[in-house]
Amino acid sequence: MSTIVTVDTVDIRFPTSEQLDGSDAMNADPDYSAAYVEITTDADDGHSGHGFVFTIGRGNDIQTAAIRALSPHLVGRDVEAILDDMGSFWRGLVGDSQLRWLGPEKGVMHMAIGAVVNAMWDLKAKRASLPLWRLLARMSPEEIVDLIDFRYLTDALTRDDALQILRAAEPGRATREAELLEHGYPAYTTTPGWLGYSDEKLARLCREAVADGFRMIKLKVGGDVDDDIRRMRLARETVGPDIRIGTDANQRWGVDEAIEWMGRLSEFDIAWIEEPTNPDDILAHAAIAKGVAPIPVATGEHCGGRVMFKQLLQANALSVLQIDATRVAGVNENIAILLLAAKFGVPVCPHAGGVGLCEAVQHLSMFDFIAVTGTTEGRVIEYVDHLHEHFVTPTDVSGGVYHAPTAPGNGMEMLAASREEYTFRG
Ligand SMILES: [Mg+2]
Repeated sequence: MSTIVTVDTVDIRFPTSEQLDGSDAMNADPDYSAAYVEITTDADDGHSGHGFVFTIGRGNDIQTAAIRALSPHLVGRDVEAILDDMGSFWRGLVGDSQLRWLGPEKGVMHMAIGAVVNAMWDLKAKRASLPLWRLLARMSPEEIVDLIDFRYLTDALTRDDALQILRAAEPGRATREAELLEHGYPAYTTTPGWLGYSDEKLARLCREAVADGFRMIKLKVGGDVDDDIRRMRLARETVGPDIRIGTDANQRWGVDEAIEWMGRLSEFDIAWIEEPTNPDDILAHAAIAKGVAPIPVATGEHCGGRVMFKQLLQANALSVLQIDATRVAGVNENIAILLLAAKFGVPVCPHAGGVGLCEAVQHLSMFDFIAVTGTTEGRVIEYVDHLHEHFVTPTDVSGGVYHAPTAPGNGMEMLAASREEYTFRG
C-alpha cells in the first residue's frame, strides 16, 4: 500500500506572444501556459503522476490555485484504492459539496479536477508500464463504463448503449492496435494559419505542410473578410485542390455574421468552420450549421463538459466534435464524450496545439480507434509544431501522422528543467 504525499503545483508560462504564434481573431497575444501538477507518493517505485491545465497566460495563477485547492482531497489517501476505482475518484472530486458551487461541472474548478484526474491516470499508466492509450484500450467494456458518470447523460447515452458500442469494437482490438503501431493516426496542421503571420510566411508554411505529408491544414479567420479571402485563395493555390483546408473563427461571430462570412469563403472548398460563435450557444451553433451547410461546423475546445456536448449532438449543432485533453475533468469525462460522439455517429477531431495538448490528446484518439469507434475515417488530430521539446515524451509526428507513443504514462510530463526555467515569477 502507498499514500499520496504531495500535490505540487507550478505556474508555467512560455512567452509565445513575442512571435505571434497562436494568434487568432480573439486571442491576439497568447502566452502558452500550463497550470501544472505533480502528485508524489511514498511508494519507492520512482513514479509520480503529472497533469496540467492549458491556459494562454494571465489567469494561469488562478488555475494553479484551483488545482492546489484540491490537495486536501488527495494528500494522505491510499493510492491503490484510487487507481483501482478511478470512476469513484472522479465522482468524489466533481461532487465536492462546496467546490461544486464554482461550476457545476465546468470552468476553472472543473479543469483543475481534470489536471488531478489526468495526473492519477499518468501514475496508473506508469505503474502498469503502459502508454495511456494502451492501458485504456486493454480495459474491458465493463471497466470502461465504470469510469463514467452517466447522471445527466441517459437521455442520450445509457450505460447499456455504451456497453454495446464497446462490445461491438472488442473483436478487432488487436488488429487495430497493430495497424495503429504500423501506420499511426492521421494528423492535420494549424502551423501555417495563424492570423499574425505574413502572406509570405503563410505560403511557405503551407508548402512545408504538404511536403511534410499533411493532408489537411487549418487557417484562422474572422479578423477581416477581405483578408480572409486573400489568405484562403493564397493557401488554396499553394496546396492545390486535394488538401483539405479547415477554418477557425475562435468564437468571433454572431449567427448572421457567421453565415454571411462563410458564404463568402465557400468557394474555397472548406473542410469545416470551427468555433463560429460563443461556445455555450447551442442554438446558435445549430442555426449556423443549417445556414452554412454543406460546410460542417466543428466545436468543442471551449465546451465546458459532457452535458454541453450531449446537447450540441442532440441539437445537430456540430458535425465535427473537438475534445480537448484539459478543458473537461480529465480522461474519464473525455471517454464519456467519445462514447456520446460514437452514439451519434459524429467524428471526433481533437483540439491540440498550445503546450502539451498534442502529447496528451493523442492517447484518447488512439484509444477511440482501438476500443470505441474502430475507425480513423474522417478523423484527424490537430498538430502544431510548438514547444514539444519541453516534454519527456514529445509527440512523434511525421508523414502526416501521429506515431503511437510507447513510453509509459499519459504524455503530460514536462522536463524538470523546463518547469524550472519557465516558472512564472510575476
Ligand atoms: Mg480552435
